[in-house]
Amino acid sequence: MARHVGKFGAYVAGEPSRLLVPSRLTGPRRQQVFGGLTGAELVRSKIALEVRLGDLLPGDRLPDAGVISQALGVSEITVRRAMEIMDQDGLLERRRGRVGGTFIAQKWNVVTTAMRDDEQARQLIDFQLVLECGLVANSCGEIAQTDLDALAEHLQPKDAKADPNLFALADAHFHLDLAKALGGWRAWERQTDLLGKLCLHLPKPPMDVALELNEAHAQLLEGLRKESIEICVEAIKRHASLWPLSSSKGSKKN
Ligand SMILES: [Zn+2]
Repeated sequence: MARHVGKFGAYVAGEPSRLLVPSRLTGPRRQQVFGGLTGAELVRSKIALEVRLGDLLPGDRLPDAGVISQALGVSEITVRRAMEIMDQDGLLERRRGRVGGTFIAQKWNVVTTAMRDDEQARQLIDFQLVLECGLVANSCGEIAQTDLDALAEHLQPKDAKADPNLFALADAHFHLDLAKALGGWRAWERQTDLLGKLCLHLPKPPMDVALELNEAHAQLLEGLRKESIEICVEAIKRHASLWPLSSSKGSKKN
């Protein structure tokens, strides 16, 4: 989408306009990946990830429920239900009439900031840590050079203009590509859901944290290049420890 060029650099430049990151798995195979996760949760996390990736912006009209249903492999009723819940939460806006439809709420960032839940976020980050450690333990040393090069493209140079949007975008792409390279579409699908949920429970990291996360990505890539599980695991643990989260229920930020 041309309008994102400049705002997010090369990440979406030249890419066709995607409506939703489609699910790559369907039927029993997806059931194995997601277990108890409901279709409505999946729709919600996918839309949240799309907003983080800049493919959908506040004010953008969502595709019709039928299109989303096809892309994600869930029923249209489930999509409608998910949209209804997101509308009630203030994440989406529904408008009637000739130019009506369902839109990403203009106040998306305000709503997600209010939805911040450090305890949920900690659980998701811990899950991501376990997932990525498992992927590394299983596939470190088998990763293709082209995948390593693709991951390197998501690292931000040290003198990068301090743009939290750019870093948040690079972070999401790094983890998606990492999961795909090490664990194929199953791991990718899991990672899309984890990242989407994280977007809803945790705002974009402040610049100082974003820079340290970027350093952890570089360390992880170094571990993959050296085929060292130890370096990779150290980098993944470091990455998980960088988020400034409150630890107790009572101090949950709003
Ligand atoms: Zn990261």
